[in-house]
Amino acid sequence: MSFLDHIYELEDFDFAEYFQQVTPDDVENSLAKNNLGRRDLLHLLSAPAANYLEEMAQKASRITHQYFGRTIGLYAPMYIADYCTNYCTYCGFSAAVNFKRTKLTLEEIEQEAAVIAATGIRHILVLTGEAPAKTPMSYLVDAVGVLKNHFSSIALEIFPMDEPDYRTLVRAGADSLTVYQEVYDKNIYSEVHPKGRKSDYGYRLLTPERGARAGFRAINIGTLFGLGEPKSEAFLAGIHAKYLEHEFPDVEISLSLPRMTKAKGGILPRNILNDTGFVQCMLAWRLFMPRLGLTVSTRESAAFRDRLIHLGATRFSAGSKTDVGGYASQHDDATPQFEITDERSVDEVAEMIIQSGYQPVFKDWELV
Ligand code: SF4
Repeated sequence: MSFLDHIYELEDFDFAEYFQQVTPDDVENSLAKNNLGRRDLLHLLSAPAANYLEEMAQKASRITHQYFGRTIGLYAPMYIADYCTNYCTYCGFSAAVNFKRTKLTLEEIEQEAAVIAATGIRHILVLTGEAPAKTPMSYLVDAVGVLKNHFSSIALEIFPMDEPDYRTLVRAGADSLTVYQEVYDKNIYSEVHPKGRKSDYGYRLLTPERGARAGFRAINIGTLFGLGEPKSEAFLAGIHAKYLEHEFPDVEISLSLPRMTKAKGGILPRNILNDTGFVQCMLAWRLFMPRLGLTVSTRESAAFRDRLIHLGATRFSAGSKTDVGGYASQHDDATPQFEITDERSVDEVAEMIIQSGYQPVFKDWELV
């Protein structure tokens, strides 16, 4: 049974009605459990659970220390191409947005990698838009080959592929895969992905499964908060992560909590998740899945990320640039995919982590 079947099963489920019926007793009972089921996750995401954030935070913090110690892994994103054939209405790289597109040469990737590696970062996240004709497999394999000289972990956030293609990239040296469903609500998915390859909801939904079968050691998924109703989206992302953890016990599963930020030509968020709601989702996920990695990017402000260290986060991006060639300033006219909010350097983020009583981790994995 794939995760698509789970989505079909929930097609008629009325989230709003269920959330309305949750009582404080339901929340307390779920909070007292060690092994939480789907109903418990719904209870912890409900409105009454917002009155239990302190209790949830204390338990989430204990569990996080138990499974991860007091550590925050650091990584940096590297955009190597911004060509895209999709029309995602929320993205600055959409084919509908007119700007000068670019792609790094292997020499430029080498320069970019050297600048990032000089900050101490050893985990890199490589991003492209979806334009296989511009960034074919041979280019991606060569890029991974260059990056292997600088980084111990290479994660990919590129266009969804078939399993054999992922195997090729794993053999080349990539070890992790990030793919966000963006929005689990099928109707909204169709609206915000009106055409292009990404309009195939099912193919994207099953991408993490194909990646896990292909041999990636870590898979990171998520929903883009701002598109669908936040609490039902958080529930579906949570059970998706749990499904992957159950089906692929050898694979490290993590969830991200990207919130829409301003993008050139992009739509505005239609469902705002405020900071309290963000924290509630994160805590509910932690209690639901003790071993789950929780990634928070520089879309969030410095002050807010500082607080999240104590609330279950396990991984931060740092010193990020979201335009192609942004680190070595190779394409000054490049357009960022979205605006970042936490603009601190890697050193500054690492220092903040230390001051918070945690250890910044630059490297916790190596290809042997
Ligand atoms: S979100 Fe990804 S696929 Fe969609 S337009 Fe942006 S780069 Fe392309």
